[in-house]
Amino acid sequence: GEGLPRPEQTRVMVVANQKGGVGKTTTTVNLAASLALHGARVLVIDLDPQGNASTALGIDHHAEVPSIYDVLVESKPLAEVVQPVPDVEGLFCAPATIDLAGAEIELVSLVARESRLQRAIQAYEQPLDYILIDCPPSLGLLTVNALVAGQEVLIPIQCEYYALEGLGQLLRNVDLVRGHLNPVLHVSTILLTMYDGRTRLASQVAEEVRTHFGDEVLRTSIPRSVRISEAPSYGQTVLTYDPGSSGALSYLEAAREIALKGVGVGYDPTHAHIGA
Ligand code: ADP
Ligand code: MG
Repeated sequence: GEGLPRPEQTRVMVVANQKGGVGKTTTTVNLAASLALHGARVLVIDLDPQGNASTALGIDHHAEVPSIYDVLVESKPLAEVVQPVPDVEGLFCAPATIDLAGAEIELVSLVARESRLQRAIQAYEQPLDYILIDCPPSLGLLTVNALVAGQEVLIPIQCEYYALEGLGQLLRNVDLVRGHLNPVLHVSTILLTMYDGRTRLASQVAEEVRTHFGDEVLRTSIPRSVRISEAPSYGQTVLTYDPGSSGALSYLEAAREIALKGVGVGYDPTHAHIGA
């Protein structure tokens, strides 16, 4: 995995979709590992109180571990919570602990409540090529912090019935944050996940997504794969758990596409007529 272009500035990608179970966490950790294997320096920020991304990366995140909660609520420097991911050179993680469940409420009364993550990232001095932020399945203050901190939104879409339902709300939020707090924010990447090309429904949904979003949809889609779903229980990404599997290869290819496409200008959500 040599020879991929490295971004001139750190690309901060927000992995969001307010629907649960669509592959946000799986995509965050496997894409991050893939980018690192391609030679990039990558930080995963776990912004979901469930801490699934931390678990999948084999990162200790029991209640006493310094975590992204301390960064957001206690203004602890990000550098003090970042841990190296075992077995993947160049990959790092800012873990989430169960404390983060309270942050959604605690943030409300804090100054600059929407931009605390942005400030923490701006003050982080280690060189990075990518930051991937794994969002919870909601559009509360945690996700808003991610949208204010990022330049790019990556939306994983599961090819099932109602795949596009509810996306309208996410796109309107992206638009609002762009209008008021973060003018560079754009939807740069759509990734089809858990794709089963043998079913008519999956190919119809894929077609619909491609018609709607056009160039932002990666050519690579991620197949449904048992190896992908097994890896987290070993504290591994599929890239180390089963490097030759179809799941590993598809995430490597998706990472390559993302690196080659660059930041892009992205899908314009202003005229979105989609979902509920
Ligand atoms: P989210 O973060 O959006 O809630 P997850 O990434 O946790 O979604 O994925 C939901 C479930 O689907 C998890 O059990 C995960 O292991 C499984 N999963 C995700 N992607 C795949 C895939 N490509 N093939 C098989 N299982 C997958
Ligand atoms: Mg998740």
